[in-house]
Amino acid sequence: MSFVLQARDLHKRFGETEVLKGIGLDVKAGERIAILGSSGSGKSTLLRCLNLLETPSRGEILLDGKAVGRPGRDGAVRYGETELNRLRMRVGMVFQQFHLFPHRSVLENVMEGPRFVLDRPRAEAQALAERHLARVGLADKAGAYPANLSGGQQQRVAIARALAMDPEILLFDEPTSSLDPELVGEVLEVIRGLSAEGRTMLLVTHELGFAYHFATRVLFLHDGHILEDGPPDIVLKAPREERTQQFLARFT
Ligand code: ADP
Ligand code: MG
Repeated sequence: MSFVLQARDLHKRFGETEVLKGIGLDVKAGERIAILGSSGSGKSTLLRCLNLLETPSRGEILLDGKAVGRPGRDGAVRYGETELNRLRMRVGMVFQQFHLFPHRSVLENVMEGPRFVLDRPRAEAQALAERHLARVGLADKAGAYPANLSGGQQQRVAIARALAMDPEILLFDEPTSSLDPELVGEVLEVIRGLSAEGRTMLLVTHELGFAYHFATRVLFLHDGHILEDGPPDIVLKAPREERTQQFLARFT
């Protein structure tokens, strides 16, 4: 059995607070994993540790079965710059708050990665960016600036920007949570389209209906632990844990 991404005994503390308390996760190529959990349960911290936007306090991250970084004497792993860049090229991320560059056009936002991280010539980066913008339905917005787009459009640009790096694994952290309700559908539609391509995806979301159809596997995170891990039919319809039942009951 081979795994593209793994976390082993992952811990993360901020000062006195331990937010992740020993996460073990093995992700196979092509899996689409929905991550559920109450606010503050550690979902964002988990995603951020998986692509090392946060440095874990303990435990390791593995790509294709190979540990990233070198463990120090205190148990915390040290990461080199090259290694971090390599990881982030393969593991893309889409944030709740889009994080677009406000002073660059939509096209420039999407070109940025291919041009300056992948070192592609300008014309090639532009062609790539145009293709990905078309894919999220925003070919006509290439010259616009983020502030002049709706939230749904900005998030679609952010998705195009992540896709332009052609990551093997895409992480989505509540991509529709800061959108007005009427804009949620267009973003979910784009994510649904991606799932047909077989890319490995991890999606933190409170859109349970979407998660049910999107995910091949659902995790329920509670207080820094993975409390439930299984197919959507089990976790969303007949969870084992009372905590999961209580969480799901809030949505009905
Ligand atoms: P979720 O995404 O499930 O809502 P988070 O992973 O964002 O949860 O946060 C989990 C806990 O960690 C929260 O109590 C939050 O306040 C805390 N936390 C997250 N990031 C930081 C940080 N950079 N510094 C201090 N505390 C943090
Ligand atoms: Mg969060």
